[in-house]
Amino acid sequence: MPATTEAMGLGARGRMADHEGMSRTRLHDIRCPKCGEPMRVEVREVIHAADEPELRDAIFADRLNVVECDACHWRFRIDTPVFYLDPGRRFAVWWVPDGANRKEEVAEQFRAMESSCAAAAPDFRMHLAYERRELVERILVCEAGLDPRLIEYVKYMIHSRNPSRADPAACRLYYAGEAGGPGHLRFVVVDTATGRLTGALDYPREGFEAAAGLFQGRPSAPLTELFPGPHLDARQLLQDA
Ligand SMILES: [Zn+2]
Repeated sequence: MPATTEAMGLGARGRMADHEGMSRTRLHDIRCPKCGEPMRVEVREVIHAADEPELRDAIFADRLNVVECDACHWRFRIDTPVFYLDPGRRFAVWWVPDGANRKEEVAEQFRAMESSCAAAAPDFRMHLAYERRELVERILVCEAGLDPRLIEYVKYMIHSRNPSRADPAACRLYYAGEAGGPGHLRFVVVDTATGRLTGALDYPREGFEAAAGLFQGRPSAPLTELFPGPHLDARQLLQDA
């Protein structure tokens, strides 16, 4: 598992080190889940956004770590943890596909990585995603320079105010960029039972700015209290309430 700052290529001074010789892929011996044919597959575990933009596209299109069985041609995704690094924008997302099934263990590993990362590169921010859609969302949020906790707060507001269109018991919201210019933030609605996209909601940017103003400069850091992390989930907050 590349769960170290070395794997992230963060040098002692917090610069991105030379990645030469660092393994970004790993070979796995598996069996086709459909026909049982043994396969040796190369799985991607570390992605550097700056020099591998095609892999960002692969994540967005759900093509990353998708392999095809030579025998039966079944295509499937190998769900292994992936580090997505964007050194230019100073963020990383650790995508742990089965993380929701072992939250405490993953949180513990994440916090260990986060503290060694903070020691090497204090301005670097680390994020945790369980699902591919969360990884995509977090990349978009960080690329737009938005605060992920504020995005969760806005989702919380949308769920609370529009239970008919965004019932937190039945659907999940994902930030999907700006809608038709800088005026609105778009959230797509995904049915949690089927995993299908069922709609989109646009939230006015000024509402977002107002929420940002509400939390700015508060000594008690209420957003961190609402969403302590490391995994952020507005629905969890509503379900716990
Ligand atoms: Zn097969």
